[in-house]
Amino acid sequence: MGRCVYCGTNYGAIFAGTLAEIKERGKLIIGTEPTFPPFEYVNENNEIVGFDIDIAKKIAEELGVELEILNLPFDSLIPALMSDKIDLIVAGMTITEERAKVIDFSIPYFNANQAIVVREDGNFKPEKLEDLMGKKVAVQLGTTGDLVVSEIEKVSITRFQKFTDAFLELQNKRVDAVVLDEAVANAYVKTFPKFIISAVIDTGEKYGIGVKKGNTELLDFVNSVLSNMFKSPYDLLVEKWFEETK
Ligand code: GLN
Repeated sequence: MGRCVYCGTNYGAIFAGTLAEIKERGKLIIGTEPTFPPFEYVNENNEIVGFDIDIAKKIAEELGVELEILNLPFDSLIPALMSDKIDLIVAGMTITEERAKVIDFSIPYFNANQAIVVREDGNFKPEKLEDLMGKKVAVQLGTTGDLVVSEIEKVSITRFQKFTDAFLELQNKRVDAVVLDEAVANAYVKTFPKFIISAVIDTGEKYGIGVKKGNTELLDFVNSVLSNMFKSPYDLLVEKWFEETK
């Protein structure tokens, strides 16, 4: 017997987070941490928007259900997925070996590297990770930025749940740098010209959508939506007129 963890209804053999349950519930519930522009952030109307959110909307639309977004700390996303509080993690999450031991990932949908952000008016302009030795660095708890900085010797790390707090710390000169994903660093630097990117570290990361381990039905669905999004209108025409009529 499967029991809907949200409404308590028993669904015979249908389990939480399956396609059938999501359709029955009428909404797809995703978890994200919205201080990660342009992937997910809170706009002036207090709505969570961004690149990832548009992908999630597309998945919900293809399922014919509403989209519900849960705002969670980044390091709570995997536990939330594992305990059926959310159906998917759509949070610019890098596919890593460690994470893939406990959750499944979709096909990669974005390439990323880490960037070091410093104050524009300061004289500390690191060019590589090692230049952070002996310095104070802010990161987001549990991110790949946290991981790379944690490997530096004699570095003092302050871990925040929100990137907005990490940048406040940099602005208030309580840390020397913030390390985070390059595209997001670009977005912060564009909004706050008092910060600059002093170096990009080639970490070769790829983002994936997190799915509960073993939920292959939902994983296959997410992968099919993503691969269709990667296709150009031309690719879709070729498929329509040649490949599918073979
Ligand atoms: N890509 C990074 C990671 O997976 C950061 C993601 C985020 O902070 N939303 O750890």
